This record gives sequence, structure tokens and C-alpha cells, in this order.
Amino acid sequence: MTSTLTGAATIGGVCGAPIRHSMSPLIHNAWIAGLGLDAAYVPFAPDEARFEAFINGLCGGAIRGLNVTIPFKERALALADTASDLARLAGAANLLVFQPDGSIQADNTDGPGLLAAVQVQAPGFDVTAAPVVVLGAGGAARGAVATLVLAGAPEVRVINRTLARAEALAKALGDRVTAADEMALPALLADAGLVINATALGLGGGPGPVADLALTPADAVIMDMVYKPLRTEFLQRAQALGRRTVDGLEMLLRQAVPSFEALYGQAPPAHVDARALALRHLGEG
Ligand code: NAP
Repeated sequence: MTSTLTGAATIGGVCGAPIRHSMSPLIHNAWIAGLGLDAAYVPFAPDEARFEAFINGLCGGAIRGLNVTIPFKERALALADTASDLARLAGAANLLVFQPDGSIQADNTDGPGLLAAVQVQAPGFDVTAAPVVVLGAGGAARGAVATLVLAGAPEVRVINRTLARAEALAKALGDRVTAADEMALPALLADAGLVINATALGLGGGPGPVADLALTPADAVIMDMVYKPLRTEFLQRAQALGRRTVDGLEMLLRQAVPSFEALYGQAPPAHVDARALALRHLGEG
């Protein structure tokens, strides 16, 4: 952790409500220390009713930028002057960068984080080769679906307990996105190249989504966005079938990389093992 900030220090941070559980300060400050930067990454928990005032106060030059997490990602996008295609399509921003002229630039690094995690843990996976099944239709699912559409997935099938939410997501994201309820799942898994749990199921050690992963092709990749615990029940089922798996912690770590680059102007140091640090923090190391 940086303890020798000067008056020229670069300050970034993360805001959410709650923010106490966030691992982003741990990760970014480890990278800052590893590079010996005159910088810091600070957690903020703004009052939910006064989020806009909080952001407007910061973009006057107080800090370089900010990651944004639940429940502010949609409101963050609405405050931005410019936004990346992905942030617009996802309808949410997890990164705001404050420009010297006071304007706000929005981006979404959750999507690139998801794709990078798949490339790290399932090398050679081709997102354009086969349909993707996304379980869930909340904020995380929407970011994932937008990313997959922009990356060229031939079809993204959104399955959700509340069908109307999946249908709304499909309608918003174009004709390569289809919606179905859980009853339709068996037929939709049979030719899937990638299956992603983007529901909250499995968090804290409970059972994951009800999906018979034995129906997926033998070379399908199974991913879980949940990372507490690291080896969720969903991933354990996939591993027992011999499927390649991708965990939610890798996604979290990978979305932090472009955020760090945008805030501090350089890549994280290769010699700092942020995954090992996060695993120890989660009690998994
Ligand atoms: P959210 O907006 O609240 O959406 C929750 C989703 O889970 C909805 O689709 C909801 O279905 C479904 N769900 C909840 N309880 C269910 C149940 N008992 N049975 C079936 N479906 C259920 O949450 P979110 O922001 O999308 O986050 C989803 C998960 O992704 C969380 O666990 C979050 O921690 C994780 N996440 C991880 C990362 C990462 O970097 N690894 C990033 C973002 C999010 P209904 O629509 O029917 O309610």
C-alpha cells in the first residue's frame, strides 16, 4: 500500500453501496505498490439518493476516475458525456474517467474481463463458433450478453426464472439474442459452446442453477460469475463431467486490468500475483 503520497499523486477509486466487501482496493493498491507509483485507489460508499451529487463533486478535478459497482452502474452511464459502444449496449458503466475539461467518459470493463478470463482459463475458445447460453437476466447478464454480441457470438440464449426479464434483454440487444425460460434449457444446451451462470445462485456455497451440464457438448466451456466460493457447485458439476471451466475471480481480476490502465496510464505489473492475493483474501489460498 502506498504510504508516501505527494501532492502530485494520482487518485482513483471504486464506489458502490455497500462497498465494504469489494476486493478492488486490494487488487489496485497491490499493483500501485508493485509499480512504486505515487498513487492510491480508494473505496467510496456514496449515499444512494445523492450519487449524482457525489460524481459531480469529483469530476471537478478531485480524482482521475472511478470504478462503479452495484447499484450505480446504470446511473453512472446516464451521467457520462461520452460512452464506449459496449457501455451503451450494456446500458451500464463500471468505469468513469474524468477528463481535464470536466467531462465524464464511461466504459464497461466487465465484458472484456469476461472474455479475457475465458481466454486465460479455456485457451483457444472461439466465441464465434457456437451458441452461448447465459443463465440470468440481471445487470451482470446484460453486460455479458452485450459483450458476446459485440464479440461475434452467433447466438446468445438468455434463460431466466422470470421470462419477461430475459425477453426484455433480448429485445434490447438485437436479433442474435433469444430468450427462454428454464423449461427450454435441455434443448438449448445441446449445441452450446459456452454456458455462463450470471445468476446469484451458488453465492455463499449453495446450489447453482438447475442445468443438466451433461447435455452440453464435451468441449463446451462452463463459466460461473460467482466467485464466493471459488469452486461453486455449478463449476464442480462441470469439472466432474470433464468440461473446461472458468471462474468468477478470473473475470473480476481481468476487468480490473483495463480499469487500472485507464486510471494510472500503465499496465499492472506482471510480478504482482493479484490472483494469489485475492485467493488469500477469500480464504482460498
Ligand atoms: P441481479 O441484477 O440482482 O440479477 C440476479 C439474477 O439472478 C437474475 O437473473 C435473477 O432472476 C437470478 N436469480 C436470483 N435468485 C434466483 C433463484 N433463486 N432462482 C433462479 N434465479 C435467480 O444481480 P447481478 O448484478 O446480475 O449479479 C449476478 C451474479 O453475478 C452475482 O452473484 C454477482 O456477484 C456476480 N457478478 C460477478 C462479477 C465478476 O466479476 N465475477 C461481476 C458482476 C456480477 P430473476 O430475474 O428471476 O429474479
